[in-house]
Amino acid sequence: PDWEKRVSKSARKSSSSGITVLVTGAAGFVGCHVSLALKRRGDGVLGLDNFNRYYDVNLKRARQKLLARAGVFIVEGDINDSALLRKLFDVAPFTHVMHLAAQAGVRYAMQNPGSYVHSNIAGFVNLLQVCKSANPQPAIVYASSSSVYGLNSKVPFSEKDRTDQPASLYAATKKAGEGIAHAYNHIYGLSITGLRFFTVYGPWGRPDMAYFSFTKDMLKGKQITVFEGSDGGSVARDFTYIDDVVKGCLGALDTAKKSTGSGGKKKGSAQYRIYNLGNTSPVPVSELVDILEKLLKVKAKRKVMVMPRNGDVMFTHANISRAHRDLNYMPTTDLEAGLRKFVKWYLDFYSVSKNKSA
Ligand code: NAD
Repeated sequence: PDWEKRVSKSARKSSSSGITVLVTGAAGFVGCHVSLALKRRGDGVLGLDNFNRYYDVNLKRARQKLLARAGVFIVEGDINDSALLRKLFDVAPFTHVMHLAAQAGVRYAMQNPGSYVHSNIAGFVNLLQVCKSANPQPAIVYASSSSVYGLNSKVPFSEKDRTDQPASLYAATKKAGEGIAHAYNHIYGLSITGLRFFTVYGPWGRPDMAYFSFTKDMLKGKQITVFEGSDGGSVARDFTYIDDVVKGCLGALDTAKKSTGSGGKKKGSAQYRIYNLGNTSPVPVSELVDILEKLLKVKAKRKVMVMPRNGDVMFTHANISRAHRDLNYMPTTDLEAGLRKFVKWYLDFYSVSKNKSA
């Protein structure tokens, strides 16, 4: 059938590469960039996404078009659909799975807690079930989050630090994902690598994130709310540019060892790894607004408020020495340079789509 042809065409690798990757969440921000990068270097890539309505679906459709032009097909479906996943593995023998599908965002959990359980826990388990039964078993790289460090007050965050105080349901489900990954590695010999992303930003980004919504509101002359601590301290984030994160993802994929399988001789020797992918340079949110003012040539109408207890943490800061050592990960884009690229994209994208609001 036509569907299967498109799947296998998209997943076909160039002769130079032995890699075929299933990218879940491919219509999402990070998934779209990772898929493009893999395709560009000659890997076989197939996307999977349920195009949920957490944020503007038009943006996801636009990313899908971008990928289609590059030769990457996205299957529309849910990671909870076992039959669909098995069918995809039948059509394309994936060597790797890059698992980026998730219910992201910290505050939305107050409105829809079930979506976090559905995608970040049940969906992840379902995907791992299919991976462990696949032949050959793929190596898995999945997105965790800096939010697992929670109310930890020790900075910079290193992978050995405690992660037992999540500040949000989102963080709790991401932390649960790490535990689930560990169990599947231990029992079934799956090779699994978790990546803790730190506030990723850039072109084709997520409209629910502050840099994006500030840009939108500042251009419309609307007031923006900037949070600070109850002691007047700044809220700061280790903003990490998308191209840097993509390099980290590819580094994780390329250094992933083959899964050994539960029946294999080397039982228990499959890889289980976890890495911070941050920028090592936290910036106060007020400074983010200063940079946006300069780039957009607009004065922001700021309302400064004490941060409510809504799941956000005061600051994030990555120690990336482990990712540097093992994945050769080294971010090179500072916040102003990255935001300049984001703003350029934003102005192009939303003027081309004629008054369509973000
Ligand atoms: P995103 O929301 O843009 O992308 C996620 C994609 O997954 C979306 O397109 C969504 O439609 C899809 N999806 C969600 N649930 C699904 C399901 N059940 N089945 C199939 N598809 C589903 O988010 P993003 O910023 O690209 O994040 C990618 C990953 O990185 C996520 O796991 C997220 O938790 C993690 N992360 C992102 C950041 C960041 O700053 N962007 C920071 C830390 C962690």
